Amino acid sequence: MSEYSTLYETDPVYQMAVKQLKEAASILGLPDEYVEVLRHPEKLVQVRVTIRRDNGKIATFIGWRSQHNSALGPYKGGIRYSPNATAGETVALSMWMTWKNSLAGIPYGGGKGSVRVDPKALSQREIEELSRRYFASIAREVGPDIDIPAPDVYTNPQTMAWYFDEYSRIVGYPAWGVVTAKPPELGGLYVRTVSTGYGVALVAREAAKRVLGGLEGRTVAVHGFGNVGLYAAKYLAEWGARVVAVSDSKGYIYDPKGLNIEEVSKVKEKTGSVINYKVGDVKASANHMELLELPVDILVPAAIENVITAENAPRVKAKIISEGANGPTTPEADKLLHEKQVVVIPDILANAGGVVMSWIEWSHNRMGCFLTDEEAITRLDKMMSQNFNRVFDEWQKKYSNYPMRIAAYAIAVDRVVKAMKLRGWI
Ligand code: NAD
Repeated sequence: MSEYSTLYETDPVYQMAVKQLKEAASILGLPDEYVEVLRHPEKLVQVRVTIRRDNGKIATFIGWRSQHNSALGPYKGGIRYSPNATAGETVALSMWMTWKNSLAGIPYGGGKGSVRVDPKALSQREIEELSRRYFASIAREVGPDIDIPAPDVYTNPQTMAWYFDEYSRIVGYPAWGVVTAKPPELGGLYVRTVSTGYGVALVAREAAKRVLGGLEGRTVAVHGFGNVGLYAAKYLAEWGARVVAVSDSKGYIYDPKGLNIEEVSKVKEKTGSVINYKVGDVKASANHMELLELPVDILVPAAIENVITAENAPRVKAKIISEGANGPTTPEADKLLHEKQVVVIPDILANAGGVVMSWIEWSHNRMGCFLTDEEAITRLDKMMSQNFNRVFDEWQKKYSNYPMRIAAYAIAVDRVVKAMKLRGWI
């Protein structure tokens, strides 16, 4: 730790991000002084957000916007509302966005914002007021060429519409490019909803071509049948794989002959859980963790963090893991799986579909034209497949002694460092 302890240096999430940065720096042979530059955000803004509650009382909240690095382009990253938000977590998340955007090959740096609030305790009107006040407080820091926020935990296209409106009022013109994942009526894309799951399926498809000779007939299990898991399952099935198991927090269902994803999705919507899908020989169990150990070719963890651990990794039978969730595999499990020659496509590569689609939305907003869904998906597919194959090749060529995740971090950090050098920053 440096001589002065800042707002964020004692935060454990921040410390984890710095540990990963140091690992990548050591593989790349970067000097400590570069790590010292990269571990701090370029700018961290803290704001006070005051609203009038429905009962007439004043309520005050604290929020942040962390702008980690802009060597590759304007800062980009979501804004979350959470009672546990801290400056440290916000800085760490902004650093991860720098690496994710660098790895995705899009012209963005990394940023992240948060407000420490329990949104469930506020009415819709109070959330609107909070959103408008927060965005007005950071209006001088953001902009279509400066910093482009998007949704994250407990923020959504409606929140983006309020941010867009508030910012446009302040600058005096409709600034479409200031946020992404807007409602389609305001320049957003319908396909934004499917884009993360689509990307998770797409990298699994590309990996299957490289290590299994193709996707056709390969079996798949999806842990977490939410937004990401549902669309990952849907596209993998559409492209010829057999999705044999899916789960949610209530349990999992398994049919070695394959599940009808559309039907499962209808049952989940109607009854609240996939375990109520009772067709043919489908087996259901309340222990969703068992799904991770099923005899399948491809595993998609798309629920929560730390589900694949040193304890269960030896029993994982999949040959490819495409990480839809953030941080589903612990570092110890990652090492064990690498030793077993399982290809683990890391979260920062596999779940970048959302931010790549954001870039597609933003670049077309800036040109004043709106894309069709088909054009947008074709663009996403082309960019992410090229990107996956580039990272896979570089991993095999230069970093094959390490899990793909470590290689991905090294490639991402290297790109940022090269840009900083070219710009004369270091
Ligand atoms: P979601 O809430 O739509 O779905 C989450 C799924 O996980 C649900 O099926 C839920 O039942 C299941 N789940 C929740 N808690 C669980 C538990 N304790 N045990 C087992 N299953 C559990 O969320 P989502 O948007 O699909 O996001 C899933 C993951 O993907 C998260 O880690 C998120 O950070 C990550 N992610 C999402 C996006 C996106 O665009 N939605 C982008 C990048 C990363």
